[in-house]
Amino acid sequence: MSVIGIDFGNESCYIAVAKAGGIETITNDYSLRGTPSCVAFSPKNRILGVAAKNQMVTNMKNTVFGFKRLLGRKFNDPHVQKELKHFPFKVEQRSDGGIGIRVNYLGEDNVFTPEQITAMLLTKLKDSATVALQTQVNDCVISVPSYFTNAERNALLDAAAIAGLNVLRLMNETTATALAYGIYKQDLPAPEEKPRNVVFVDFGHSSLQVSACAFNKGKLKVLATSNDPCCGGRDIDMALADYFCQDFITRLKLDARKNQRAFLRLLQEVEKLKKQMSANSTRLPLNIECFMEERDVSGEMQRSQMEQLSAETFSRIERALKGILISAKLRPEDISSVEIVGGSTRIPAVKGLIENVFGKQASTTLNQDEAVSRGCALQCAMLSPAVRVREFNVTDVQPYAVRLHWDAARGEDGDMEVFPAFHAAPFSKMLTFYRKEPFSVSAYYTDPVPYSDTFIGEWHIRDVQPTPEGESQKVKLKVRVNIHGIITVASASLVEKKQQDTSQNESVEMENSNEAQANQEAPMETNGGSQEQQQNGPENQEVREDDTKEAQQKQSWTQRVGQWFSGDDDKKDKSKDKTKKVVVKTIELPIDARTHGYSQHDLNNYLEQEGKMQAQDRQEKERADARNALEEYVYELRGKLSEGEVLHDFVADEQRMRLVGQLDSLEQWLYDEGEDQNRQVYSEKLSELRTEGEPIKQRRWEFELRPGALDDFALAI
Ligand code: ATP
Ligand code: MG
Repeated sequence: MSVIGIDFGNESCYIAVAKAGGIETITNDYSLRGTPSCVAFSPKNRILGVAAKNQMVTNMKNTVFGFKRLLGRKFNDPHVQKELKHFPFKVEQRSDGGIGIRVNYLGEDNVFTPEQITAMLLTKLKDSATVALQTQVNDCVISVPSYFTNAERNALLDAAAIAGLNVLRLMNETTATALAYGIYKQDLPAPEEKPRNVVFVDFGHSSLQVSACAFNKGKLKVLATSNDPCCGGRDIDMALADYFCQDFITRLKLDARKNQRAFLRLLQEVEKLKKQMSANSTRLPLNIECFMEERDVSGEMQRSQMEQLSAETFSRIERALKGILISAKLRPEDISSVEIVGGSTRIPAVKGLIENVFGKQASTTLNQDEAVSRGCALQCAMLSPAVRVREFNVTDVQPYAVRLHWDAARGEDGDMEVFPAFHAAPFSKMLTFYRKEPFSVSAYYTDPVPYSDTFIGEWHIRDVQPTPEGESQKVKLKVRVNIHGIITVASASLVEKKQQDTSQNESVEMENSNEAQANQEAPMETNGGSQEQQQNGPENQEVREDDTKEAQQKQSWTQRVGQWFSGDDDKKDKSKDKTKKVVVKTIELPIDARTHGYSQHDLNNYLEQEGKMQAQDRQEKERADARNALEEYVYELRGKLSEGEVLHDFVADEQRMRLVGQLDSLEQWLYDEGEDQNRQVYSEKLSELRTEGEPIKQRRWEFELRPGALDDFALAI
């Protein structure tokens, strides 16, 4: 079993693996380290990653990209509507309001969700890792932008489930980067010393993320994050493309906006130009052959002009960079270094902005493309028993303030903030309610978030009844930001106190008081809706348990299983009365949850669909491989049989001429009706051919070993 880290980028993905010797980046089937986040469809199969990007221009309507930004969203979300403007493929509203991506696959119209498309890409990454590592890959840590909300995080978990990946953690991208930075730093301040503050800037394809972290030996704590989810390298491409569109209209009377293919090619070319401008400040040419209306176009640009055209993007960057100083409450002099990652931080003007805001040079300690995936691989190794790595404690933050609402009873306040912005994560809080009947709580983000609504979830707590005396019961809710950064009500339990005879319950008490300690629960409490805090730092395992879909499912079907343990009250009572004591009984209550993400039923359907598509891809690959094998054999044999070549003299003239004739017509057939046959047809033809070809090769081989053999052969013919 291997543990891997996946950086799921809007433009490209990276996979890293944690091994005993360190972290390595995995290359894909094209020997490249980055795999484009691209999924395409053809009449025969799906095309994933590099191959998909390579055929984008010729199969525009069926090549899907940019789907990271659609995860967990509704079709009429303004953010989605804005993204749609960039897509040459069809996107529509599904009956449930979700997003449907319509493509032609296997000669038919098919509609896929962004989660399904993401799952397809993830299966490709899983495959690359399996091939490279020659072992099964299931456990992984996948990166997410720190600004992702509950809906987007749940959607990515669903996608990973469809791809058969077991996600040990969704890790915020800048936190993964911080971990990749910290673990190799030998000179971090001792735990009791003042921490070293480092700012991380990740400026990628579609967004900008900044975080401030405090490092001590063996640990890091994220102080705050600052983001612009709508500001990335692609915005610069768009500004350059707009400029050239206008330029071509003025000079050449060609409107590239009217031709999707031309515009897509223009975008690809300006991206190349932009990258060249990072290394070169002189005037650079742009040439595109047969651009549109069978005409070639050319233009030019230099760095200063690009900077002017990108002024708006640059001022957004500046705002986000300054934002981190405010949210982390740091002055530039409190920061010891500013580490940059992400492809777009290669732009000199971006480095310049960083220097201006922080008063120090942008530092490139980390691999700009691979840091996120490496951090994820490290985290995965720490969470998995399969690999041992140096421990490094990571405390992340929950960037948004979260409120809980509930049906007010007994004049309680029906609303409170459970997590302020930038609260440590993962983290659980215990809330105590006094209720006589089932009740509901719902969670919302307090302030606007980069998502269409602020609703997080609603949880209905069942099976609450009055005590036999008709009193309210004490119900404890565990509200949690889990290891994936998802906010959830992890459990609800009824707390009953009973007078018990000590002698009867001794063994039960012992066992369960240990459990009480392990859980560190119930240290204090106040009135309804009050908080009992519990730091979740070292109990990752406990957090993980709760985070799987099954666990959530199980939770809603939990039967009333009572657990006995002695609580704090019990100890007080013991001093008063040696024979009688209060024993606290907790009963897990069933919860019905309504939150983002697929139902088990939908998930099963998507899993089944994905399975069928994988089988189809496999079948198509086997077919193509069989055709290639036949084609290769035809060429090889014919080549070797020709005048002066190795097999020429090892076959009678007559047989050779017949065989060559047969090979010629096979070649013809391969490009004719033999282009698209099933695997069986090719393999039968190949084995037929081999029955003739192999004995010839065999004679040649025997001759090499024993030159006299040729004489026997010559005698025989
Ligand atoms: P995101 O983090 O937004 O989800 P991503 O992780 O896929 O996306 P990166 O791979 O970090 O993004 O960066 C890709 C972006 O970096 C592209 O917009 C690309 O044009 C840009 N880029 C890469 N190299 C250079 C360069 N030398 N100069 C300028 N821009 C570059
Ligand atoms: Mg990225």
